Parts: sequence; structure tokens; C-alpha cells
Amino acid sequence: MRNKIVAITLSLVLLLSLMPGPASGAAAKVKIAKEKQAVLDWLSRPETVEKFGRISDKIWDYAELGLQEFNSSKLLADTLEAAGFTVERDLAGMPTCFVATYGSGKPVIGLLGEFDALPMLSQKGRVPKQDPVVEGAPGHGCGHNAMCTAAAAAAIAVKEAMVAHGLKGTIKVFGSPAEEIVASRPYMIRAGLFEGVDAVIDNHSSSGFGTGYGVGGNALFSTIFTFKGKTAHSAGAPWVGRSALDAVEIMNVATNYLREHLPLSQRMHYVVLDGGEAPNVVPDKARVWYYVRNTDERLEDMYRRVVDCAKAGALAAGVELSSMQVVSAIHQRHANKAMAELIQKNIDLVGMPAWSEEEQAFAKALQKELGAKETGMPATVDELEAPRGGQATGGGSSDVGDVTLIAPTATIGFPGAAPGAIGHHWSNVACWRGSTAWKGLNAGAKAIAASALDLLTKPEELGKLRKEFEEYAKTHPYKPFLPADANPPNDLNKELMDKYRGLLEKALEIK
Ligand SMILES: [Zn+2]
Repeated sequence: MRNKIVAITLSLVLLLSLMPGPASGAAAKVKIAKEKQAVLDWLSRPETVEKFGRISDKIWDYAELGLQEFNSSKLLADTLEAAGFTVERDLAGMPTCFVATYGSGKPVIGLLGEFDALPMLSQKGRVPKQDPVVEGAPGHGCGHNAMCTAAAAAAIAVKEAMVAHGLKGTIKVFGSPAEEIVASRPYMIRAGLFEGVDAVIDNHSSSGFGTGYGVGGNALFSTIFTFKGKTAHSAGAPWVGRSALDAVEIMNVATNYLREHLPLSQRMHYVVLDGGEAPNVVPDKARVWYYVRNTDERLEDMYRRVVDCAKAGALAAGVELSSMQVVSAIHQRHANKAMAELIQKNIDLVGMPAWSEEEQAFAKALQKELGAKETGMPATVDELEAPRGGQATGGGSSDVGDVTLIAPTATIGFPGAAPGAIGHHWSNVACWRGSTAWKGLNAGAKAIAASALDLLTKPEELGKLRKEFEEYAKTHPYKPFLPADANPPNDLNKELMDKYRGLLEKALEIK
């Protein structure tokens, strides 16, 4: 009981510190439509902030890897269903994929939402030095726990405004599994889930609050190469055997020579999934998982050369290249300028959340630990990011890329991480549980909802970004890199998640 009182007191303190920051102040200066004000007010309510904050924390606790997000996906889908959305689950061959829909007819506005974690990054929330919850377990090192949560909060806010003000149209949340292995959107598009969608608002966790347009990131082939050889006694009669591991090693040597002769836009990395069990048995099976990244124009040629390296490895080792499983294959991001401009206005309107002293202190402690500048949390939102141009486009990839080629799309980066926290690293995991995540995702939800509302209520704004998109599509028609016979890698993370799920539940007392 005492614990309960302490918990209630704590949550009251937390709620007071989470009351809306600059949004209401900014709103006072700019004249905003009553529907949009209703959406912002609904999201500013302390009970809304707390509800979605707790959902985000829960998904952080689950820390489920791609296509194993059974609890996370269910929590989000159930939340949307309870709010009056029609939810379809188990879509596009992926049990954790869902689409939640409210309303009917045109326009149809889609919101993207991710919820998967990363392996090996387990870390206690809001502890500014490395300290895992469970050593070696997954963790939310990219803030995806807050992302579909922000989309769900925004969608429900928009629904409330649609009901209150009799607005026409449809709002959809695309519950997208496995973004960390870029493995859902090409399959979701192939299954026709985005048909009829007029515009898509994406979101991603960040330390800043901003958006941008133009071509970004890298296209990617994610492929597992499997080699099959013959076992033998490694000392007694090694000449009888043919080592599948040799083929992997020769392939890796070949690809590392290949790097020199690729344009600077390339990125290429691999992990060995299987390389034998013991040195005294010649391994008859070996698997290596490659990420091959480049621009849309250069990707297929680079991939063909990597496949040649695999074939060369098999030939030299005298083994068979028994399979090349394309886990996923995706395009670069082609973000819509008119959409980004519309989003930027709403980011300016919402403004950067006001951070508490405790939050500033945590950010500075983390920055100190990382050897970064001790600047604390950011005070202002970012300016609209224009394309940087040049050859190098930035290394990362997201399967949002394919969506940007089938509907006008832009991404809202919302705050929550301390500047200097490193992506895909324990420091990011530490940031994405608790108060800064709650405030950041709430600010993100406001920008998403306000932008969705603009697209639902202002046909001229939607027309502008549709026109830009249709012009662009003439020179960039969507042709998936994903081979027609590829299937979602539903079991890729199963073993790892099975190993850690119970340990995380026990450590965090998840019920
Ligand atoms: Zn991410």
C-alpha cells in the first residue's frame, strides 16, 4: 500500500512536470483552426500524456526484436481498437503487422508506426552509464517504442476531432514490424495495404524536432548466403572434407577487395550466423548475413558483384552456394517537399517541449559519460532540412523508402534523446524510457496530428503535395528491389527473443 501511495505521488509529480509546454504559448500567437486546436488540446491533457507515455514504456520493457513484437503490436492494436478504430491484424504474411482504420472515403491519410528493438543493447532507463537490465538482451536503441505510440496517439486525437467537427475522410495507422531489419514495408506494399492512400506521415525518434525533404539514406539488399560443404575429421582426414566456412571467409575477402572499386556512397557489412561448432570438425554448413547499401541507381550493380563474390567463395572452397535468402530489399527515401513544408509549420507551432531540471541534469550526465558536449536538452526546434546533395547520402536505410515512392511521404523527427546519445547504442536505450520520451512522443504526436488534420481539411494543401508526387513518379516509378519470391523473415529473430523474453520479464517484473 505504501508503495502505492508513493507511486501515486510520484506520478502526480511527473504529470505536473509533463503539463503542456510551449505548444499553448505558440498557439496563442498564431490563429489556428478550431479542429486543430481541439487536437492539440486533447493531446495536451495530462491523462493523454500519461496514457501514451505508459504504452511507450511498456513497449520499451518488452524490447521485442523484429517480427517477434507480439506484445508490442497487440498493445498498440488493442489501444486503437478500444478507441474506435477497425483493426486488421496478421497482414502481408507478418503476424505482428496491423492496420488500424477510422472513417471512410477520401482523403485517406496514413501514419506509419514502428515498434521493434535492437539486439545486444539492454540498458536501464534513465541511467547515464552502461548498466544492462539483462546482459546481452535486446533494447530500444532507436526509440521505436515511442514511435508507433506517437502515431497511435495522433490518430486517436484526429479521430476525436473528426467526430466532434464532422470531418470527412479516413485516417489509418500502419503498424509496421521489423524496421530495424527493414523488413516490413516492401511486403506491406506488395500485399496492397497502401492502395488508395493519398499521403503518408512517417515519424522517427530523435534528439531534435524537425523534418526534411529530398533523397536520403541508402537503398539496401539484406541477404543471407548459405554454403553447404562436407564434414570430416579436421586433423585425421581433412582432405575428405569441404569447409563451408572457407567459402564464407573467401567471400568476405573478395567483398573487402571490392570496396576499393565502389563509389563512396556504398556501405557494406556482415555478420557470420553459422561458422561451425568446433575446430575439430570441418564445418559443412556456414551462413553469412550481408547488408549491401548504395543509392537506388547503384544498388543492383553492387549487389550483383557481391553475389559474384559469394559464387567465387563457393567455387574456391569446393562447396555449394546452397541459398541466397533475400530478407529484404529497399529503396532510398524520397521525401516530398510540399509535405515537409506543411509538417514544418506544425512543428513550429507545437514547439520544443520545456525540459525539467532533472531532465537537463540527466542529459548532461549522459553527455559527460559519452565525452560529448554537455549541452543538455535542446531549446528550439530544427529548421527545415534541405537535400545536402553530393555523392555520399548518409549511410543508414529505412524501409520507409519504398513508401515514399508510392505516396507522398515525409518524416517527423521528434525529440526525447539527449543530443550526443549514440544511435543503436545503450545511451539511446537509456533515453527512451520515462519523462523525456513521454514529452517527446507527445510533441511528435501533436505535429503528426496537426499535419494529418491539415491534409484532411485543406484540399489545396493535399493537392500541392499530390501534384509534386505525381510529377516525381514520372521519373521515379516504383519498381521494388524485393524479389517476387521473397518472404517475410518471420523466424529470423525467434531464437534470440525466446532466449531473452523470459529474462527481461523477470528482471522488469512485466506481467
Ligand atoms: Zn530507427
